[in-house]
Amino acid sequence: MDLGRRCEFHTHTFFSDGVLGPVELVRRAFVLGDRCIALTDHVDFTTVEHVLRSQLKLKGNVDWDIEVLVGVELTHIPVGKIPKMAGLARSLGAEIVVGHGESPVEPVEAGTNRAYLADGRIDILAHPGKLSVEDAELAGERGIFLELTSRHGHRRGNMHVAGVAKDAKAAMIVDTDAHGPDDLITQEEALKVAKDAGLGGRLALETVVESPDLLLRRIRG
Ligand SMILES: [Zn+2]
Ligand SMILES: [Zn+2]
Repeated sequence: MDLGRRCEFHTHTFFSDGVLGPVELVRRAFVLGDRCIALTDHVDFTTVEHVLRSQLKLKGNVDWDIEVLVGVELTHIPVGKIPKMAGLARSLGAEIVVGHGESPVEPVEAGTNRAYLADGRIDILAHPGKLSVEDAELAGERGIFLELTSRHGHRRGNMHVAGVAKDAKAAMIVDTDAHGPDDLITQEEALKVAKDAGLGGRLALETVVESPDLLLRRIRG
């Protein structure tokens, strides 16, 4: 089966802790064969305006055959401030909003997964390692994608996330959370991430081939 060209929805540039500038990261993804890439640098209240104002200048200025989406990853936001932060990111023009979930390898505040899902204005809950059944059901209701990640450390939560999401029939997406050019992956590697998370062949294929188009539809409204 043709896996098609890849869409990368979770990446970082040197506007946060990535190593490449936005245009070079887009170029690397295009050369690898991707059809779209979202820039989702880490932001909080101090940086969200600067990052979005700067990166939105990319729109219309990339001539290669790759779609660029400009967004943010809301990161280590105090749980009580998540609705305020999500609203701020949207009002500043973020086309995609990723919530930095409760990864098993970072001291993310407890309740973060639930707060993002309850607010509903994110598109992806990233590496939500400590996902509960109720969280996954909420993600399903809200059409929020639960992330399986190829990123070292965070990926320790993949098996758990995939199992809970599958039972709740919540949509999943395979992301790289790329911080550098070597982190970008092919569709074949993405399929392996889905299978390594315990998804059967059919669901793994759906996650890699169909989820990106569903997510693009959500993003474009
Ligand atoms: Zn990072
Ligand atoms: Zn990230």
